[in-house]
Amino acid sequence: MKIAVLAGDGIGPEIIAQALRVLEVLKTEGMPLEFVHAPLGGQAYDQYGHPYPEFTQKICRDADAVLLGAVGGPQYDNLDRPLRPERGLLAIRKDLGLFANLRPAVLYPELANASTLKPEVVSGLDIMIVRELTGDVYFGQPRGMRTNENGEREGFNTMVYAESEVRRIAHVAFDIAMKRGKKLCSVDKANVLETTEFWKEIVIDVAKEYPEVELSHMYVDNAAMQLIRNPKQFDVMVTGNIFGDILSDEASMLTGSIGMLASASLNETKKGLYEPSHGSAPDIAGKNLANPIATVLSTAMMLRYTFDNEVAAARIENAVKKVLAAGCRTGDIFEAGTKKVSCSEMGDQIVAAM
Ligand code: NAD
Repeated sequence: MKIAVLAGDGIGPEIIAQALRVLEVLKTEGMPLEFVHAPLGGQAYDQYGHPYPEFTQKICRDADAVLLGAVGGPQYDNLDRPLRPERGLLAIRKDLGLFANLRPAVLYPELANASTLKPEVVSGLDIMIVRELTGDVYFGQPRGMRTNENGEREGFNTMVYAESEVRRIAHVAFDIAMKRGKKLCSVDKANVLETTEFWKEIVIDVAKEYPEVELSHMYVDNAAMQLIRNPKQFDVMVTGNIFGDILSDEASMLTGSIGMLASASLNETKKGLYEPSHGSAPDIAGKNLANPIATVLSTAMMLRYTFDNEVAAARIENAVKKVLAAGCRTGDIFEAGTKKVSCSEMGDQIVAAM
């Protein structure tokens, strides 16, 4: 069980350290885990002059799974675009063929008050957002900035999806829906964008193979609204890269904190990249304040989806539940009557609960 560990930038090293302590518990008990560290993002640019250097590529290709902290920081914002940390992230997704991003948005009952929405609207929330990750306007060519025929400067990108790309992500989403509430909502903007009209057509075709799943369609603007108005109507949502980027961040706030949300990005052989949904949080980096739970829960997803070890995955998730039930909170989810802990203290508690 070879895991490439990419701590990255900002709070990355702090949250990864806690996730590794949790995995070390399993390793000590005999799970054959092997960790290989490599840089990504700004850290990699500093060392190798590139956000996804060959050194890191090799380690990630050799590994069964990749555990990533986060990348990015203000010190890198003025670099040439291809050298920016976020490009490292796009490059690794593309390199490993990670086309399916799974982002659960689950509201732990203990945190119902941490959400900015009314507890009755969000309590019991359990949504899985399946986002296509390697296509769409983020990768479409041509792209760039140019001077048009009127002599005016303009920026341009291309929204494009091939049929095979839509089919494979639709299959992932239907398969997940089959294991959950058997409800799938496909999000598009088919009234305006041909790319997503095509998306909808293919999803409807794939649905024929899953007669038990109740398929619905929603425009992305309505989906953004419905996630706030009545989020519990959703079970699994599937959408393209850019809509999924935005909707999954929105869904994350339903749960109270982006610091709670894990994610998995899978390829066709179940190799996966596991990372928290949030960024490198430069505002709190190096202060031992970050919430490591999203990263810890990402290791649970790794055990479930890449290593097929449901027992170990559930054990980590139960340890997190126990710690929350005991009232431990990092600053981002703190409320009166609970106990504020640091990033490393949260790690201590989770390890103890394991
Ligand atoms: P962010 O997610 O880093 O931070 C947004 C807010 O949430 C901040 O106030 C931050 O302190 C807080 N936050 C995030 N994670 C937290 C945690 N674990 N515990 C407590 N609080 C947490 O988003 P941003 O500020 O828009 O971006 C910062 C940098 O991260 C940028 O360089 C951006 O490009 C990068 N980024 C990276 C990824 C990634 O690595 N996957 C994703 C998004 C943004």
